[in-house]
Amino acid sequence: MAIGKIVKGIGGFYYVDADDVIYECKARGNFRNDNLTPLVGDNVEFSINENAENRIEKILERKNSLVRPPLANIDVLFIICSLVDPKINTLITDRLIAVAEYKNIQPIIVLTKTDLDDNYSEYVDIYENAGFRVITVNNESFEGAQEFKNIISGKVCAFTGNTGVGKSTLLNNLFPALELETGETSKKLGRGKHTTRHSELFKFEGGYVADTPGFSSLDIQRYDKIMKEDLPYCFREFRDYLGECRFNSCTHINDKGCAVCKALEEGKISKSRHSSYVAMYNEVKDIKEWQKK
Ligand code: ZN
Repeated sequence: MAIGKIVKGIGGFYYVDADDVIYECKARGNFRNDNLTPLVGDNVEFSINENAENRIEKILERKNSLVRPPLANIDVLFIICSLVDPKINTLITDRLIAVAEYKNIQPIIVLTKTDLDDNYSEYVDIYENAGFRVITVNNESFEGAQEFKNIISGKVCAFTGNTGVGKSTLLNNLFPALELETGETSKKLGRGKHTTRHSELFKFEGGYVADTPGFSSLDIQRYDKIMKEDLPYCFREFRDYLGECRFNSCTHINDKGCAVCKALEEGKISKSRHSSYVAMYNEVKDIKEWQKK
């Protein structure tokens, strides 16, 4: 039995990378009975067969997985925010960060187009003070590629960002060797079958970069709702205060004796981060766990 990583799945075939050789595999039939579908990013055990299809026999335990794009075992999520055109939306950024935290993925904030607006220290402060790594990118010179390469080494990384931030352009400029297809939305397969979104991992700098055409903030909102009990923990700068609120039922919005609100007043938590929390809390406050799809 060989061990490898699924780097592409299309039309019922999975492409498994094992020591730099790609094997075309079919999945063992009874995964479906276990309600389990192999995902790009999965580490798998598979059999190599001379006169039959190679077969994925076992999916190894996942560190995490996303619904859309369907992707497993992501280590780092680069969240791309442009400073202008479109201007960074902190609520969208904070949503993406919260989902990454919820899924145990390291979020890294990437501020692009510093050549068009050099007044971005406010955003660097917000995110660095909250405990995140921030990378700034000058879109004229595309300096900073080495910083990305150092992070990617040995990891599985995905990039996301709001529509219009120029994710693919950024990636292609930073890493010309990747030659990612840009703007791919659908690919026709035989017999009228369509796949609207497929993810693919590209080997790069000793790690993998996921090309995920459909990875938008909209998908995140739709498919990865965080329940209100979990939400405060997805804001990492809140965590130090969560045990110190006067009431166990504290919502950390403007409750009496709330330690998070006190930290907000004292400037230890940024206003924009807290207002994103409030907006996200209000969206899910009436959803019960059993109603979650
Ligand atoms: Zn509180």
